[in-house]
Amino acid sequence: MNVVTLDQVERQRARGFRFLRFCPEIEARFRKDYAAERVRLAVIWGIIGTLIYDLVYFGDRTMMADVFSGLLTVRFFIFTPFVIACILAVRRWPNAALYDALSVAIAVLGVTLPMAVATDSQSPYLFVYQNGNSAAFLFFVIALRPRFPAIFIGLVLMCASHFTTTSFTGAFDAVTYSGIVTFYVTLSIFLAVSAYFLEQKDRQNFLNQLRGSLLYQQLEHNADRDELSGLLNRRSLARVRDVLWSAAAPGIAAILLDIDHFKRFNDVHGHIEGDACIHAVSQCILANADEGAFVFRFGGEEILVLSAGRTALQALAQAERIRAAIEALAIPHRGLDDGCVTVSLGVALAFPPVTTLERLLQDADAALYEAKRLGRNTVALADGLVPSARGDSAAA
Ligand code: GH3
Ligand code: MG
Ligand code: MG
Repeated sequence: MNVVTLDQVERQRARGFRFLRFCPEIEARFRKDYAAERVRLAVIWGIIGTLIYDLVYFGDRTMMADVFSGLLTVRFFIFTPFVIACILAVRRWPNAALYDALSVAIAVLGVTLPMAVATDSQSPYLFVYQNGNSAAFLFFVIALRPRFPAIFIGLVLMCASHFTTTSFTGAFDAVTYSGIVTFYVTLSIFLAVSAYFLEQKDRQNFLNQLRGSLLYQQLEHNADRDELSGLLNRRSLARVRDVLWSAAAPGIAAILLDIDHFKRFNDVHGHIEGDACIHAVSQCILANADEGAFVFRFGGEEILVLSAGRTALQALAQAERIRAAIEALAIPHRGLDDGCVTVSLGVALAFPPVTTLERLLQDADAALYEAKRLGRNTVALADGLVPSARGDSAAA
């Protein structure tokens, strides 16, 4: 499914949706929510609606005794199984178009079936009997509540069916018949207009809710991120520690990285370019860190990479890949003889729950110090770690 952005929602709010339609991405999301909600209610309304529909059995027996067996057949052997099949279908394929189409089908069938049987009746109660269909109109619009185009089509078809079957009974004079037509047309207009405004309100609420949840997501995302680098911030380190340490994955690798001679970079290039350099280095680390690694801006120009389930050899390989990638960026550093930005990296390994995060960071920091001492632009492994391919390569 398409991802909806906060920008799209804001634009839609500003533009409005006079014809009950959002832009395609938001419309797809609306349809999905709409289908889920209607399908959830379909079982309840299906049972209530069919129960009431079948209870008219008693009315059929008293008012329409001459066609009673026909009415019994259409209610219990055609309409009821059809509704059950519809409920099963929308639960199996929960989509908005199917729900709308089946709602219209149920409504039209519900109106047509008893009146079609009634065309053969000589009952003196036909006027009262046909009034019952107004309940079907209300049920369709208020309980089933498909989207507006389906409501419009449904009401037109229901009216057409009701007027035709009523006329075929031959029981009503012109004045009574026009009274019936006027009543149902008026009812349909009221229902259609209120359905339009109700859907507009529904869509407005949907848009507001969507905006709220997207704003919240953005807030959560920003709270965990460092603005300049786009990396996780130090605040989120505790959360990640809880995740990694509770999984107790063997071998959590920490790579602590520091840009070489960065004070001088700032002095020569200025702080604005310094910021851009931190951003470029951060993105390069994100692109070259192992899959599933957590990358934090640890301090000013110090970056921390945590990855679980690593051997010392794998951690070293990851650090070396990052070092080489940053060197390959060839960001000019006019304060240095060799002229390019490089980084030094310290690698350490933790074995939860024995090693704490604090201990891991101390080890990585010591290794970073060692990398600086060795002349920078290099990777150093924490004391006591053997670069073996096996996961149990800790010694300290
Ligand atoms: P070394 O090779 O030993 O790491 O030398 P260095 O000059 O990089 O020393 P150090 O790591 O202590 O320097 C950190 C410098 O990073 C100090 C500060 O001016 C700079 N810095 C820290 N945060 C930022 C930032 O957000 N933007 C910019 N432009 N500079 C920063
Ligand atoms: Mg530093
Ligand atoms: Mg530095």
